Amino acid sequence: MTGTADARSARFLIVGPQGSGKGTQGVLVAEAFGVPQVATGDIFRANVAGGTELGKRVQAIIEAGDLVPDELTSALVADRLSQSDAAEGFLLDGYPRNRGQVDDLDAFLAGRGEALDAVIELEVPREESIARIHQRAVEQGRSDDTEEVIANRLAIYERETAPILDVYRARDLVLRVDGVGTLDEVTSRIFEGLASRGLAPRHPGVVA
Ligand code: AMP
Repeated sequence: MTGTADARSARFLIVGPQGSGKGTQGVLVAEAFGVPQVATGDIFRANVAGGTELGKRVQAIIEAGDLVPDELTSALVADRLSQSDAAEGFLLDGYPRNRGQVDDLDAFLAGRGEALDAVIELEVPREESIARIHQRAVEQGRSDDTEEVIANRLAIYERETAPILDVYRARDLVLRVDGVGTLDEVTSRIFEGLASRGLAPRHPGVVA
């Protein structure tokens, strides 16, 4: 069931540098709105771990912290968003990451008569996100959390991803949220901001 963006649709992006906490916050928003969280990085990592064809194609790219080609990434996302659980909404985390992917997503949504409802921008200073990535490296041991790769990923974020926010700002979609604070503080800011835009969760109880 597809349709135009209406009061019940919840089509979100969450954008922020690595270490901004967007993964954690994204899950909370997705749960509250009853929509799937679609995180391209998680999908790629699962394919690498599972040794799939896709995983073999992207492994070296991910380990270097470079971007997987748009064609491959956008096709993967289109396929995922075509599944029935994403019919009335989704929360995209880590996609789109550059201007080409913005265009691909626009074309995909326009083809279904859909549009984004909000873009959540999590703002975290560079030093803070670096500190958090280091912390995560210790806790999770991600193979793309080495010093050189972290620097590469942040540089790509600043050069290619941050500018896409201007595109969405021009459409008045961006909800800018201060990402510094406790997890609960940041979550509250996000939900207050969404509510001020008339976007209320379907399952508010999920967020205590
Ligand atoms: P993330 O977990 O979002 O930091 O993603 C981990 C890695 O997956 C990135 O460093 C990229 O190599 C790849 N990746 C994730 N999302 C995208 C995307 N939208 N476009 C290209 N590559 C991506």
